[in-house]
Amino acid sequence: MDLRKISIEEIKKKPFFPKRISREINSEVLKIDPLKIIGSIKVSLILKGLKGRDDIINLSGKIKVTATLECTRCLKYFNYPLNIMVSNNFVEEGEIAEGCVELKRDNLTNLYFRGEYLDLLENIREEILLNIPDYPMCQEDCLGLCSICGMDLNDKACHCKDKKEGPFRMLKKLINQEEN
Ligand SMILES: [Zn+2]
Ligand SMILES: [Zn+2]
Repeated sequence: MDLRKISIEEIKKKPFFPKRISREINSEVLKIDPLKIIGSIKVSLILKGLKGRDDIINLSGKIKVTATLECTRCLKYFNYPLNIMVSNNFVEEGEIAEGCVELKRDNLTNLYFRGEYLDLLENIREEILLNIPDYPMCQEDCLGLCSICGMDLNDKACHCKDKKEGPFRMLKKLINQEEN
C-alpha cells in the first residue's frame, strides 16, 4: 500500500472494514528536514469511513518517533521521544461550504481533503511537526548557559552573577547611607 496514495473510494466502499496500517517508516522518506529523527517512525493507524457520512474519513491511532532537539536554554542536543495519539476527521473539501461545524468535537480535529487520494505520509509528517515543542528544553528545570561567561550552569555554577550584582549592592549601600 502506498501511503501517499490511499484510495478514498476504497475506504468509502467499505465503511465497516477499517483499514489498518502498521508500519515502520524510514524518516528519510518523510523529508522532515531539518528535524533529526532517530531510527524509524512507527505508525499504527486505522482509517475508516463513518456510517451515514460518506464525505468523512476518520484516522486514529499512534505515531511513535524519537527526535533530536536542541535545548533552547543550554543549546545541548537531546533525545525527545514522542508518542502521538492521532484522532482526525478528514472531511471532503466540497462539503465545507455546506457547513461541517456540527462535526467538530473537542477531541477531534477536522482536516479537509480534495481529490481521489489521501496522502497519509503528509499527515504523519504534520502530526510530528505539530508535536515538537516551540521551545524545546532538555529538562524541565534546565539552568541554561551563563549570559556572561557562557558556562553550562547545569554542570557547574559560575560567579558572574555575584560580580554583576556587586556594583549595585554598593550603590544601594551608598544611597542608604545618604538617607541616614
Ligand atoms: Zn538544557
Ligand atoms: Zn558565568
